[in-house]
Amino acid sequence: MVKLKNISKLNSWFSDFDGPLIIAGPCSAESEEQMLQTAREIAALGKVKVFRSGIWKPRTRPGNFEGVGEQGLKWLNQVKKETGLLTTVEVANAEHAELAIKYDVDILWIGARTTSNPFSIQELADFLKGYDKPVMVKNPINPDVQLWVGALERFHKAGINKLAAVHRGFYPFEATTLRNIPKWETAIELKSICHDLPIICDPSHIAGSTEYIAEISQKALDLNLDGLIIETHYNPSVALSDMNQQVTPKQLATILDNLVYRRSSSEDVNFANILETLRNKIDSIDQQMLELLSQRMNVVEEIGNYKSKNEVTILQLRRWEKIMSTRIKLGKKLGLSEDFVKKLLQLVHKESIQRQTEVMNKINSSEKGK
Ligand code: PEP
Ligand code: MN
Repeated sequence: MVKLKNISKLNSWFSDFDGPLIIAGPCSAESEEQMLQTAREIAALGKVKVFRSGIWKPRTRPGNFEGVGEQGLKWLNQVKKETGLLTTVEVANAEHAELAIKYDVDILWIGARTTSNPFSIQELADFLKGYDKPVMVKNPINPDVQLWVGALERFHKAGINKLAAVHRGFYPFEATTLRNIPKWETAIELKSICHDLPIICDPSHIAGSTEYIAEISQKALDLNLDGLIIETHYNPSVALSDMNQQVTPKQLATILDNLVYRRSSSEDVNFANILETLRNKIDSIDQQMLELLSQRMNVVEEIGNYKSKNEVTILQLRRWEKIMSTRIKLGKKLGLSEDFVKKLLQLVHKESIQRQTEVMNKINSSEKGK
C-alpha cells in the first residue's frame, strides 16, 4: 500500500482555502438560468469557494433524469467566469474527465458508485496522468475503507497529489431516518490511515432531507473534517434530482452562519475522535442487539402459533432449564458474569412468554368465534 500519510503535498492545496472548504451548488445542472442564478446567490454569501454540479447523473434505475451532459459544462464555465467561484463536477470515466478538462473545470470529483469500481478508477487515473487536476474521491457505497483508500492510491500512483476524500455516508440495508448511514468511524479511520488527506463531508447525501443538514454539518466540523459540500438549488421544489435534500441559497446562509467552528488543539481532536469512534461502536452494537432481540421475538411468536395448533403448553420447564445452563456457560466463556446472564435471560424469557400468551389468546378467541 502506498503510504499516503507520508506525502505532505497532499494537503498543501487545501491550505490555500483558509478554514473549512465550503462547496455548494445544485445536485444537477438543469438549465443555464438555474446554474447562473443559483451561483450568483451562492457567491453573494461570500462563504463558498467552490460551485458544484452534476452533469452526468449516475441513477440507480434508468429513466430518471440522467443529466444534461456537455452543455452543462458550458454553463459551469460561465459560472466560473461570472462569479469567480471555482468549479467541480463528477466524472465517472475518461471521456467525462476529458470534457471537464476541456471546459476548464477546477476540481474533479468521483461519485460513490464509481469509487466502488476499481476498473473505472484505474481508467480515470490512467487518463489523468500528467494533468494537474485536483481530485476528490467520495466513499464507496459500502463501508469498505480499503476500497476508498485503494481509489485514492490509484490516483496518487498516477502522480496526482491534490487529493481529498468526501464522506457521503453508506448505503443502509434497513430503513433509516437518514438516506445514508454516516458511520463516522470510517471517515476517522481514513484520516488515521492518511494523516495529510483532507476529508470533507457531504451532509446532503447523508441526510437525504434538508432538515438534518445543519446537524450533520456541525458534527463533521466537530470531528475536525476539512470542509462541506452542500447541495443548493435556487428553487429546490422544481429540482430534477435529489429534490428533498437541496437547500436554497438562503437556507445555506442560515446553516453556514450557525455553524460553530471549534478551534481545538490536536490533543482535543484526538480525544474527541477516539471517544466518537468508541461511541459509534456502541451505537452500532446496540442497534444490532435490538435487531436480534426483535428477530428472537418473531421466532417466539412463530413457536406460539405452532404450540397453539398442536395444543402444547407455553412453559416447558426442561427446555427453559437447558436454555439457562447453556447460555450461562457460553456467557462465562465470553467474560459475562452468571448473575448478569441470568437476569438478562429472565427478562427476555418473561417477554417471550407474554408474546406467546398473546399469540395463543388471539388464536383461541378467533377459533371460538368460528
Ligand atoms: C451527487 O453528489 O450528486 C451524487 C450523485 O453523489 P453520490 O455519488 O455520493 O451518490
Ligand atoms: Mn445529488
